[in-house]
Amino acid sequence: MPVTTAYDCEPNAKRLKLEEDVKEHAVQAVPAPAQAKPNVFVDLIKPKDKATTAGKDTATVRTASPKIPPRNHTPPTLPSSATRPISPPPVAAATKAAVNPDVPVPLMPRKLNKEPAAFTKRVTLLKALHGYMKPQNDKLLKAVKPEIKALHLTPNQLNKLAVDEEEKIATSNPSVYENILKQRLVKLKAMTPELWVKERREATTKQSGEPAKKPPPKRVDTGLTPKEEVTFLSMLKCPQDGLDAHGYVTKLPASADLAETHLALEAAAGWEQCDRCNTRFQVFPERREEDGMFTTGGECKYHWGKRVFPKKARGAPPEPTRLTCCNAEVGSPGCVTHETHVYNVKNSKRLSLIMPFIETPENSKVTEHSAVCFDCEMGYTTNGLEMLRLTVISWPQHKPLVDVLVRPLGHLLDVNTRFSGITMDQFVNAKPYDPANPKPVRKDLRIVESPYVARDLFLSHVSPLTPVVGHALENDLNTIRLIHPNIIDTVLLFPTRQGLPFRHGLRKLAKDHLAEDIQQGGAAGHDSYEDARTTGELVRFKIKEKWQLMKLEGWEIRDDGVHPPMPAEAPPKQAPSAPSMIPEARMAVLEGTPAVKRKMDDDDAGDELPLNKQEEE
Ligand SMILES: [Zn+2]
Ligand SMILES: [Zn+2]
Repeated sequence: MPVTTAYDCEPNAKRLKLEEDVKEHAVQAVPAPAQAKPNVFVDLIKPKDKATTAGKDTATVRTASPKIPPRNHTPPTLPSSATRPISPPPVAAATKAAVNPDVPVPLMPRKLNKEPAAFTKRVTLLKALHGYMKPQNDKLLKAVKPEIKALHLTPNQLNKLAVDEEEKIATSNPSVYENILKQRLVKLKAMTPELWVKERREATTKQSGEPAKKPPPKRVDTGLTPKEEVTFLSMLKCPQDGLDAHGYVTKLPASADLAETHLALEAAAGWEQCDRCNTRFQVFPERREEDGMFTTGGECKYHWGKRVFPKKARGAPPEPTRLTCCNAEVGSPGCVTHETHVYNVKNSKRLSLIMPFIETPENSKVTEHSAVCFDCEMGYTTNGLEMLRLTVISWPQHKPLVDVLVRPLGHLLDVNTRFSGITMDQFVNAKPYDPANPKPVRKDLRIVESPYVARDLFLSHVSPLTPVVGHALENDLNTIRLIHPNIIDTVLLFPTRQGLPFRHGLRKLAKDHLAEDIQQGGAAGHDSYEDARTTGELVRFKIKEKWQLMKLEGWEIRDDGVHPPMPAEAPPKQAPSAPSMIPEARMAVLEGTPAVKRKMDDDDAGDELPLNKQEEE
């Protein structure tokens, strides 16, 4: 029953809490061994499981090259998951274009590992290519319009253009290299000056923009000033009661509970269940002496995709449930292999033992009319899933306040690139964060030495009164171990028909309400800045929607809050209700919008489906 299979749209951490609920219910239904402590630790110290897995484990212990125990914090070798391309890597043309055009480029084909033709042949074809490009380029000098004249290339730039193009054809289609190049020559020979201009224009736009240059996303127009928007957030604040049932930590755990958890963990001796493939395996806080491994159980093979439930046709034999990653049937051997199994800690007491929770402290530096939006990206360490990147932006302006990589407390097992967007490379090579120069640069993220430092950076922008905006905030708050009293969560603002634990993914919400396509990174994962900004805009969309109605009814926004039209004790009937776990269908009745007529099982763009967990049991 692979948990992760059902999701591809959100980092694992985004829904773990909800799954835990489902899981805990399931666990409670199983009679607990007499000596086991009740509830969550039934799962943790189930002695039967431990014995069987332990036996299996010794039989399959990896004999592969043992690793040298490192003295530094990160493993000496990159996990293949950090570097292995999962889908074919994009053609390198865009990056080549970024090379300084003034570096002299001889008119010679670049050496390739796999030559598509004899080198002399390549030289001939390259010279021909350059020969056909040159008259086209020369004609540009005669142009009247300066913007067309500007497209003219220097001799060196033209060399580079030809060499780049020849190389691109040689690497992308080596088997038909000669054919494609000759076709290109024919096309160039017959090319009109207009077409050449068009081609050059398109190429320069591509070069100047970064690989995925999207137009800046449109901002929602709420009709309110930023200050009024922050004031309005009080209407959207999520009530704290009931939230702890859904993974939010609203109280500091009692020390007696922590002591009990500590004992249970000792009894468990590092046995965990893989978050991806469900294998039981052992994890060690430091590399094991005998083989230098952090984990037992060898490689982790699993499906990262989510399930596609077949449409039931009457009379037809039932179709198998398939997976989006590889279209294989559920239960088939995994299509992706990672070096090690990984696990995740969801229980707040266990989380506390790794790093204690705190309540947001007072902060006199924070101004009254400010709000923040934040998002974390996570990766797997010997401590479970830990924060690897923290992004905090101002709300509603969406200015980056903090954007740092975070060195976790445990040893890094897998940066989880598919979901975190973070690569091992980026992580290993990051320069240290410089407090004297705190402004975040997304292309050059700095690293802070621990999650404690990251949390302090977050807290420098927040007081207990500051509204904190996010999507599935319980995960982000739990990962920085913070109990915050004023939260606005898009999971609760845009509930599903069924209410929690079902929830809409951020990607789906962005598509439905903002007409934006986010998280298109595929194997490159998420970008927490983009996620935070999108979340912020979704909240602004909700404000716009609510304010349109309230304005008509005569509500007023003043410095001290949002006021109903009449000074009556009871607010009018149509007062917007605070977000709650009321299913969307019923919310829709309250708000007069049509209910979403989607079936949970023909999920496409990322509804959260913890249901599959139940279905399997
Ligand atoms: Zn698969
Ligand atoms: Zn696994």
